[in-house]
Amino acid sequence: MNKRIFLSAPHMSGNELKYIEKVFESNYIAPLGEYVNRFEDSIKSYTGAKNALAVTSGTAAIHLALRVLGIGKDDDVLASTFTFIGSVNAIIYQGANPVFIDSDKESWNLSPKLLNKYLCECQKKPKALVITHLYGQCADIEKIADICKLHGVYLIEDAAESLGAIYNGKHTGTFGDFGIYSFNGNKIITTSGGGMLVSDNKEWIDKAKFYATQAKEPFIHYEHKEYGYNYRMSNVLAAIGVGQMEVIEDRVLKKREIFGWYNEFLNDIEEIIFMPELENSRGNRWLTAMTFEKTDFNKIMKKLEEANVESRPLWKPMHIQPLFKDAKAVVDGTSEDLYSKGLCVASSTIMGRDDVKMICDIILANLD
Ligand SMILES: *Cc1c(COP(=O)(O)O)cnc(C)c1O
Repeated sequence: MNKRIFLSAPHMSGNELKYIEKVFESNYIAPLGEYVNRFEDSIKSYTGAKNALAVTSGTAAIHLALRVLGIGKDDDVLASTFTFIGSVNAIIYQGANPVFIDSDKESWNLSPKLLNKYLCECQKKPKALVITHLYGQCADIEKIADICKLHGVYLIEDAAESLGAIYNGKHTGTFGDFGIYSFNGNKIITTSGGGMLVSDNKEWIDKAKFYATQAKEPFIHYEHKEYGYNYRMSNVLAAIGVGQMEVIEDRVLKKREIFGWYNEFLNDIEEIIFMPELENSRGNRWLTAMTFEKTDFNKIMKKLEEANVESRPLWKPMHIQPLFKDAKAVVDGTSEDLYSKGLCVASSTIMGRDDVKMICDIILANLD
């Protein structure tokens, strides 16, 4: 059997182990230490975010953002329906109600039109929007940020999948009041697990740090006025992050190259439509995503699996998840249509052109 080809496998730079050894030498195994600061600094200088907080996961970062913004019980929070559940779980943690907004065809991401329409017509004003940059491709983020500002809605950018994606020269994660990145095992870079919260507002990041470390008041005897969480990233994992950040731009370019190969080999096939890229943007093409307008993608997925190649349907929209059967949703069928036809194909940066060719040959051999 061939070695399995994963959707997005970890890909170390080569320096991570060296930095982990430094951590061991210093004995700062315990939370925090020099590498946490260095990891935060590297994210700030790469993305242009003014403040950053390294935490245990992207989900924790979203949770902290909602908490700092004072979002709580029975508040409405808007969210992309076409996303991974990690974008919205924290809304539930806060006892708030998600209101899902559909995608548009131009970006496959949240539709600014539907967003604006809902905000103009709704009875109860939502407190915030958690917007996802799906599969590393930029949402129409300038327009969306303007709409949020106009209606007084906080914007949290879920850039878990889109580190390195740029819209009009500015990094995803830096348009909103908060941005979050994830370093889960299959993201574009990984610390095996981890996340980052960024914001230009220093007070908010300081407050998030306070909540992320059990909300200890500044007394030696551990005084508590509020409850918090244990959400800070460990120095060992941050050392991996520092090594990974040295190659982030290489990884973005390689992901885009992989997308280019798929595009080249499948270019002539009319029924295949790739996830678009908005003008003025550079996505990171975390996962190459496509729809099949005729062929059942399940057949393709099965054939790829037989060759030990991983692929996955597009995310099942949140508004058709059993968990959210009673949630409000502003939808026009776009994400459901994409979900019914779409597949993410292997996009690991350790892959070569030959791997992509082999995968495309399987796809081509199994079209209707
Ligand atoms: C991975 C992911 C998350 C969650 O990140 P974790 O670090 O796994 O908690 C949230 N949103 C999206 C869109 C993701 O892909």
